[in-house]
Amino acid sequence: MKFGTKAIHAGQEPDPSTGAIMTPIYQTSTYVQESPGQTKGYSYARGKNPTRSALEKNLAALENAKHGLCFSSGMGASDAVIKMLKPGDEVIASRDLYGGSYRMFTKIYAPFGIKFHFVDMHSVNDLKPHINSNTKLLWVETPTNPTMQITDIKACSAIAKEHKLIMVVDNTFASPYLQNPLDLGADIVMHSVTKYLGGHSDVVMGALCTNSDDLYEKLAFILNSSGANPGPMDSFLVLRGIKTLHVRMDRHCANGKKIAHFLREHPKVDKVYWPGFEDHPNHLIAKSQMKDFGGMISFTLKGDSKEDAFRMASSTKVFSLAESLGGVESLIGHPATMTHAAIPAEERAKTGVTDSLIRLSVGIEDIEDLIEDLKQAIG
Ligand SMILES: *Cc1c(COP(=O)(O)O)cnc(C)c1O
Repeated sequence: MKFGTKAIHAGQEPDPSTGAIMTPIYQTSTYVQESPGQTKGYSYARGKNPTRSALEKNLAALENAKHGLCFSSGMGASDAVIKMLKPGDEVIASRDLYGGSYRMFTKIYAPFGIKFHFVDMHSVNDLKPHINSNTKLLWVETPTNPTMQITDIKACSAIAKEHKLIMVVDNTFASPYLQNPLDLGADIVMHSVTKYLGGHSDVVMGALCTNSDDLYEKLAFILNSSGANPGPMDSFLVLRGIKTLHVRMDRHCANGKKIAHFLREHPKVDKVYWPGFEDHPNHLIAKSQMKDFGGMISFTLKGDSKEDAFRMASSTKVFSLAESLGGVESLIGHPATMTHAAIPAEERAKTGVTDSLIRLSVGIEDIEDLIEDLKQAIG
């Protein structure tokens, strides 16, 4: 089955008792047992809920995975992955990383004795010197947030296999429509479902997909034991959102392309970060592992002044000044004070998250209105 058909149908059957075409919201915490221990596969809703099960099957289908697991947030999903490790274990992670992931690694798990190395993965050979006998996990984000660096997933997975590392890809920015990391050799794909998958800025949720029965069992055990499970209403909203994922993504990509070129030609704009440019440092890798280049774009203004960036980010009328991304509506953000405030200034500067960097999540409004809005805001 092709992607759009899976997005609409995978994991979902008409409700057996009524024929309802939409998966019901099973708003229940527990399930009646016929005799002690004899269930219909569901015993308590922290472990499993039918609305969530439908969504998990759907997500697994979109990532060409055997298993899917949903969590109450993207961070809840990432937390479950790191909980598979033990003190003394080491992780190599992309240096240009989602701020919340960096915060969780350094503030929650480093004190428990897990060691994190943040490495520029523009060239995968650069990660080899950081691998030792304690290294257990490779955490890759591509494209990265917010400077749109691209990491070669296939080349990374070859290194992970050689050294028996679990390779995780945070696939939030691409969505399963644009990129399927498991097909390229990753062991686990992680999503902040909050973003493109949910797509309507009305749900916070996370997910993990894998082909490994062993990893799935470990992660499902952690999910049930630690309790970062999403509710049935949210699962329903995401099932509904995903039905238009392929259509939305096409428009996000088309609008993103036009805006990237508009910005690049604007006399007041300095750098534009978007993997679709032929002179993007890893453009060819992006082209080979992604179907298209997405709706996320970052840029800096000439003069690199924080005041100019603040003024611009506060004066758009169609783009809303807000954290998050991937919804139908366009958003504008200032990573250094918003999404990446948890990363120290000197770390940020190394990855290009300067004071004038502005990030756009290009929505699916009419492109003329979006460009007009940016034009007046840049001035
Ligand atoms: C938002 C985001 C997360 C965290 O997900 P939540 O759903 O907000 O917990 C992780 N990685 C990336 C790339 C994100 O954009």
